[in-house]
This record gives sequence, structure tokens and C-alpha cells, in this order.
Amino acid sequence: MKFYNLKENDEQVSFAGAVKQGLGRNQGLFFPESIPQFDNIEALLALPMVERSVKVLYPFVSEDLTETELTEIVTEAFNFPAQIQPISENRAILELFHGPTLAFKDFGARFMAKCLQAFSKGKKVTILTATSGDTGAAVAHAFHGIANIDVVILYPKGKISLLQEKMFTTLGDNIRTVAVEGTFDDCQALVKQSFDDQALKEALGLNSANSINISRLLAQICYYFEAVAQLYRQQGAQALKEVVFSIPSGNFGNLTAGLFAKALGLPIKRFIAATNANDTVPRYLQTGQWSPNETVATISNAMDVSNPNNWPRVEHMLKAGLVAQDCVSSVSIDEEQTQMTMIQLAKLGYISEPHAAVAYRALQYNALDSEFGVFLGTAHPAKFKDVVESTLGQPIGLPKELADCASETILSTTSSTDFAELKAYLLS
Ligand SMILES: *Cc1c(COP(=O)(O)O)cnc(C)c1O
Repeated sequence: MKFYNLKENDEQVSFAGAVKQGLGRNQGLFFPESIPQFDNIEALLALPMVERSVKVLYPFVSEDLTETELTEIVTEAFNFPAQIQPISENRAILELFHGPTLAFKDFGARFMAKCLQAFSKGKKVTILTATSGDTGAAVAHAFHGIANIDVVILYPKGKISLLQEKMFTTLGDNIRTVAVEGTFDDCQALVKQSFDDQALKEALGLNSANSINISRLLAQICYYFEAVAQLYRQQGAQALKEVVFSIPSGNFGNLTAGLFAKALGLPIKRFIAATNANDTVPRYLQTGQWSPNETVATISNAMDVSNPNNWPRVEHMLKAGLVAQDCVSSVSIDEEQTQMTMIQLAKLGYISEPHAAVAYRALQYNALDSEFGVFLGTAHPAKFKDVVESTLGQPIGLPKELADCASETILSTTSSTDFAELKAYLLS
């Protein structure tokens, strides 16, 4: 299968090309030229997660990987569970945070790392990425120890929590981290300048590993299948009500993957894209006007995005009729409601963090009793320990992954926002 550039349709590449390139010409996103159809979804759902994921993904990657190679990649990448936990009769959370960095980004980052390893064939690659928290940890852990791939992660010095910082700055080996004396936007600007520098780009084999990479989205399709499979097993295909997913959204990669799952034939009725105060998409769906405001900081900070970079893919799927126009609605939840919802969930016996709470609140607003609502748990509550503890007024424990790295030494170097300084460092 080929992937084409949504902006310049004549640019077509294979899966390997799309993974290595990331973005197409003129910043266009890659999109599969066709959507495979599975005629026996129930048989697929009966399979174990790894086997099923190989069947779902193989049509997309068969030009570049054998089924055996794909099986190896998926087995290594998805070595932790995605778990449905019931909240009430009609509601459940899909916990996606049982990977090494306790966030759903582990699924996409680990799959991408294994694919890139297979495709770089001994050629040197440098992953250069900016992070405001979760992405850095997922990317660092996914690529740690992979031969011929160096990783450089930029982050704003003093602007992320110590625990967040320790999750990706203490690994060493092929993972280098740079604390930039500036903001997250300054970090992103430095990454952009690096990619604009053709000589540097070629010398290092730069790749950004960010959330627009098609491999990350394909990986995420698999946990929607796993969620529906678990619901079928628990409730029976006949008894199960119509399934609605509520997705805490920032760059809308998670929603894009869900829409792919639906387009592939997975029985999902519809999606609710839940945002925090950064509400470009809910306003757009209401008014038809795309008018991003200044990004505002919230307690669900992984969703503090006002110009979501995956939206062109969502828009394309809706306009091209790959999914029904009315299968996406979007709701914005403010800070007060987010905290109230965390308290409400705690009363139901479930400790959640702000991102999942935003999604649960949106479900409570928007879903009917005749629907079965699943909201996505995108991060472990301990990753947001401070806000969870202050909201709920009770201490929460640290899981082993976080407790282990808390005692390690930070190995970062410091840099100014001057591109020349970063360039010298990258070439050293
Ligand atoms: C990245 C992230 C999101 C947003 O996901 P998108 O795919 O960018 O919409 C939500 N929650 C958490 C915890 C995240 O890290």
C-alpha cells in the first residue's frame, strides 16, 4: 500500500518512506491510499492482541515488512496490556498507561522505534524532538539501546516537573537530553530550524518521531480493537450496547486512530473528542470557523494545543466519507469541571488524572443511557501526582517505574535558545 500526501497528492511513498520522512512536501500529512476491509470482524476480535494487531496492520505495511517481521515488531512493541476497567453499569475506562512510561504514547513510540530500526538498516538516524513532558519519556524509552539511532530531546529548563524530567533524562547511552533556557515554543523553534538546515539534516539523518508520524497512528488503531474485543468477551456481542469512545484530545492523533478503526469495520457507533479550554475543534464543529486562540495552560497540560497537527487527517476522513459526518462531536471542559469530575470518579472508587477526567465529563454530558461509553485513560494518575493529591486531598503512591527513576541522576546538558549553539552540540 502507498501513502499519499494530503496536500500534494502526487507525492506517494511506501510505509517505510512515510515512517522515515514523517512529513511530506509543503508540510502535508501522509494518508493511506485505501482502507482495507475485514469481512469477519468477530473472528478478528476472538484473537489475542498481538495476533489480531498483525492482521489489522499487515495490509498497510506489506510492501516493506513480511508478516514474520511485523509479528516480531508488534510482539516487542506491545508487551504491556490495554485494559478495560468498569466504572459503572454503562461506563468504562480503557487504561492505556501500563507501558514503561505510564502513558498511552508508549504504544505509538515503541512501534515506531521498532519500525525505524527495521528500515534504517545500519544507516545512522538522529531523532530530534521537543517535549513538554510525556512525548520525551515515551520516545526516550522506546529508542533506548537501539543501535545506529541517536536521540536528542529538547525541553524547557525548569518548566516541567522533576519527576517528568527524570523519566527521560536519566537513561544515557544513545539518549541525549538538552535543557533549553527558554519555553516549549523556543524548543520547537530550535527543532524546526534544525530541520530547515539541509546540511545538518543530511549529516545526522534527522527524524522527529512526533505524533504526525503515520506509524504512531497505525499502532494506536490496535487498542481500539482490543477494547471492543474485551467488551465482547465480557458482555457478549448481542448484549453490548452501542459503543461510544470519549477521547481526551490535544493533537487529535488518538481520535484519528479511532476513526481508522471504525473505517476498518470495527463496530464503534461514534466518538466524542474532549478538549480542555483549548477548544479550537469544538468551536470549529459548531461554527465552521477555524480560529485558534492563544494556547492556555491547564492541569491537563498534554492537551494544551490550539492548532492540532492531526486535524487535517480527521477532516479528510469526514469529508471523503470514510466515516459518517456525524460520528464525531466535540466538547470543551473547563478546569473547575475537570477537578469536580476527578472527585466524582474518586467517589465511584476510581482515582483518575485530569486528562481522563476531561474525557469522562464529556461522556456524561454527551452520551445516552442506551450507549456504552468508554473513555480513554491516557496517563497513570501518579504522573500527575501533585494535582491529583491536591484535588482529592489524599496521597497517592508511586508505581515502580516512577519510583525507580526518582533516585537517578539527571544527565542533561544546558543550552541557550541560540541555534548556532545547538547545532555545534548536535555535530559534536
Ligand atoms: C498526548 C496526550 C494526550 C493527547 O493525545 P492526542 O493524540 O495528541 O490528541 C492526552 N492525554 C495525555 C496524557 C497525553 O500525553
